[in-house]
Amino acid sequence: MPTWLVTGGAGFIGGNFVLEAVAAGVRVVNLDALTYAGNLDTLKSLDGNPNHVFVHGDIGDRALVERLLAEHRPDAVVNFAAESHVDRSIDGPAAFVQTNVVGTLALLEAVRDYWKALDGEAKDAFRFLHVSTDEVYGTLGETGLFTETTPYAPNSPYSASKAASDHLVRAFHHTYGLPVLTTNCSNNYGPYHFPEKLIPLVIAKALAGESLPVYGDGKQVRDWLFVTDHCEAIRTVLAKGRVGETYNVGGNAEKQNIEVVKTICALLDERRPREDGQPRESQIAFVADRPGHDRRYAIDASKLRDELGWTPAYSFERGIAETVDWYLANQPWVLRVLDGSYRLERIGGAA
Ligand code: NAD
Repeated sequence: MPTWLVTGGAGFIGGNFVLEAVAAGVRVVNLDALTYAGNLDTLKSLDGNPNHVFVHGDIGDRALVERLLAEHRPDAVVNFAAESHVDRSIDGPAAFVQTNVVGTLALLEAVRDYWKALDGEAKDAFRFLHVSTDEVYGTLGETGLFTETTPYAPNSPYSASKAASDHLVRAFHHTYGLPVLTTNCSNNYGPYHFPEKLIPLVIAKALAGESLPVYGDGKQVRDWLFVTDHCEAIRTVLAKGRVGETYNVGGNAEKQNIEVVKTICALLDERRPREDGQPRESQIAFVADRPGHDRRYAIDASKLRDELGWTPAYSFERGIAETVDWYLANQPWVLRVLDGSYRLERIGGAA
């Protein structure tokens, strides 16, 4: 049975990844600092499962990471841990540098030393996979796609800190030989997404009858990928990716933000009409644009498709319908985030 050290596995993508990995027979040691974005409710179904070891701690705590590596002897480390919300990075960039840059560096140093001391097959097979974003490439005009050779041009404190972490990961391969892989993915959506991000925020506010804030003219374009497709891409890169390479991951699903919001409104109107019968589009309210808001992101994921055979399974239409259905069926999960009670778990759940 393989063992993976997964960081940030109580967050949105990491949580989905951990649930799937344990179900697939991987033993997961899950290191998460349980910031506001970490939610142990997501991992409830793993309570008592011996193949999931949750550790409450920081990737920047090198001594802790060294202890975990020595104790659990993982075959791979998958790094999801990050501060991830662009708006929060505008209000307070320091936390982003602390976790995404300083934290990733501490993690890399601990992992490098662990890997150096391995031998034989275990050393050859070991991988460090760093999960990153397409936002490191900056913004696109009306046409064109980000490829793995697009120059980095991050525009927000979030993307700048992720770009710095990507460079450190690259440098640890070139300088120390650490067998790293990096994935740069487009916008994810799906179950367990914290309701500060566009899609879950709009679902929650639409159901609550509140106004649906849309930045600027709403015509910013994002390429959307259903979260389980991202998790599958990460497993594919981990299993078959060429060491030292980066792989772009995308959904071939470019949508304007306003289209996404209108699609959610229509799905909710169909599934749970408002009592007054009014369409939820009437709740849309355009608000002042985010400073430095990137206009368009779009990913060319052909390297991952051609080299490793990965393509997304979900169309946007199927993924967004399943997402809306998941939020309707899992209102207790959402309500515990909205009223803050999910945070009480962190004391009881800490190891
Ligand atoms: P998230 O904010 O939902 O989860 C982040 C998790 O990391 C949380 O559980 C949090 O508690 C944990 N964490 C934060 N600081 C930590 C620290 N110092 N030590 C240990 N744990 C810490 O984020 P997400 O949306 O799941 O994103 C996961 C990763 O994927 C991030 O690295 C992000 O940059 C990247 N990514 C996200 C998207 C997206 O659309 N959400 C797209 C591409 C890449």
